Amino acid sequence: MILFSNTYATLPERFYARLPPTPVPAPRLIALNTALAAQLGLHPDDLTADVLSGNVVPPGADPMALAYAGHQFGNFVPQLGDGRANLLGEVNGHDIQLKGAGRTPFSRGGDGRAALGPVLREYLIAEAMHALGIPTTRALAAVATGETVVRETALPGAIVTRVAASHIRVGTFQYFAARKDDDGVRTLADYAIARHYPNAASYRAFLEATIARQAELVARWLLVGFIHGVMNTDNCSIAGETIDYGPCAFMDAYDPATVFSSIDRQGRYAYGNQPRIAVWNLARLAETLLPLLDDAEDKAVEIAQECLAGFGPTFEAAYFGGLRRKIGLAIERDGDNALVQDLLKAMADNQADFTLTFRGLCNAAVKPERDAAVRDLFVDPTVYDAWAARWRQRLAFEIATPEARHAAMRAVNPAYIPRNHNVEAALEAAIERDDLAPFEELLAVLSHPFDDQPSMARYAAPPAPSQRVHQTFCGT
Ligand code: AMP
Ligand code: MG
Repeated sequence: MILFSNTYATLPERFYARLPPTPVPAPRLIALNTALAAQLGLHPDDLTADVLSGNVVPPGADPMALAYAGHQFGNFVPQLGDGRANLLGEVNGHDIQLKGAGRTPFSRGGDGRAALGPVLREYLIAEAMHALGIPTTRALAAVATGETVVRETALPGAIVTRVAASHIRVGTFQYFAARKDDDGVRTLADYAIARHYPNAASYRAFLEATIARQAELVARWLLVGFIHGVMNTDNCSIAGETIDYGPCAFMDAYDPATVFSSIDRQGRYAYGNQPRIAVWNLARLAETLLPLLDDAEDKAVEIAQECLAGFGPTFEAAYFGGLRRKIGLAIERDGDNALVQDLLKAMADNQADFTLTFRGLCNAAVKPERDAAVRDLFVDPTVYDAWAARWRQRLAFEIATPEARHAAMRAVNPAYIPRNHNVEAALEAAIERDDLAPFEELLAVLSHPFDDQPSMARYAAPPAPSQRVHQTFCGT
C-alpha cells in the first residue's frame, strides 16, 4: 500500500485541527476514478469503501481540518475552515481530502456531512473540467455513507474524495492576517511558494504568479461558458485550480449576465463578472501580504497595486487568444478582437447556444455550406450571415490548411459540456432510484468532450424549454 504523508502537519498547530474523520455506518463505493488512482500511484485495492469513507485511516495519513477565513459574497467571516472536510494527507504531492467526513471544530452549526446529489455533481463537473483541459481539483471517488442527511428533506448521505494541488485558499491567508499573525502569513507564504511557485524568488513574485494563474483560470472558464457561482475568497485556490463545485453551471444560450446560483441574488458572481471578482479576491490576498512586500506600508501598497495591475493584460491575452483560436484564427491581426466581440454580441442578442455555436464554426470554417447548422442557432439568422461574411474575409489571411484549421478548432471547441438538465437528470436517477447508470454514461461522455460520439449526441443538445434549469443550489 502506498504511504500517505502530510506536509501541512509540519506547519504550526494553529493552522489546523487534528482529528480523524467521523465513521459512517454502511459505506458503499459508488464511483471510483481508476485512471486518476493510477496517475497518483494508488492501487484500487487500497481504495476501499472503508478508506474512502474515513472509517479506516490509511497508513501515513495525518487527518486534519484546515483553518481558513473568507469573504462570502463580500462579507468577511474571520473563521470558516473545513467544517465538513478532512485532509487525510498527500499522495504524490497531491492533497487527498474527504469532503463530507463529519463534524470538525470549524463546523459552526453544520452537520459535517454532504448529500449524494452535490457529491455526484462535484464528481461530474470536476472531471468534465479536467477533460476540458482546465486546471481543477479532481474527484477520486464517491461513497454512499448509509446515513441520511437532513437538508430541506432527508437525503442519502455521501462523501467525495477530492484530489487537489493543495487546499490553500486566499481565505487561508486572510485567516492569519485577520489575527495580525504576521508570522503565520509568512509561514504560509513560504509553504505555498515551496509547493506551488518554487521559481518565485520573492513574495512579490509569488503574488504576481498567483495573480497570473487566476487570470488564466478565469479566462479558461469564460471560454467554455463556465460559471463558478460562489467565487468567495475561501473558494479561490492559491495553486490556481478551480475548487469547490457548489451551484456552478455551464451556460446554454450565451448571456454574460447569466446567474444560476439560488443564493447569488445580486448577480455578484454572474458569468461576465467573474474576471472582476477574481481581481477583487486577489486584492484581498495582496492585502494579507503587505507586511511581506515592504517594511514601509505605502511602498508595500504600491507593489501590491503593481502586481494587481498585471491581472488585466494576462487575462486579456488568455481570453482573446482563446477566442481567436475558437474561431480558427492562428495568426493575429488588427480587428480580431472586434470580430470575436461582435460574434459574442450577436450570440447574446440572438440567444445562440454558446457551445453549439463554436462547435458549429469548426465545420463552417472549412465548408461554408455548413453555415446552416450555425445560423439556425440565432433567433435572427441573418445576423450570423453578416458576421460570417466578415469572418471569411478574415480567414482568407490564415495560412493553415483547412484540415489543420478544422482539427485545431475542434480541439478548443467542445461538443459536450455538463449541461444542467443532463446533470440534474443523472443526479435524480441516482437519488430517487438508486440508478447510477445515467451518471456513469454522462461521466463517460464528458470525459471525451472534444470527440463527436454520435451515439451520445443527445447530450450535446441544449435543453428543451421544459427541461431548462433556472437555478442551482449548493446543497450544503
Ligand atoms: P462551501 O459552501 O462548501 O464553500 O462551504 C462554506 C463553509 O461552510 C466552509 O467553511 C464549509 O466547511 C462550511 N460547511 C458547508 N457545509 C457544511 C456542513 N454540512 N457542515 C459543516 N460545515 C459546512
Ligand atoms: Mg468552500
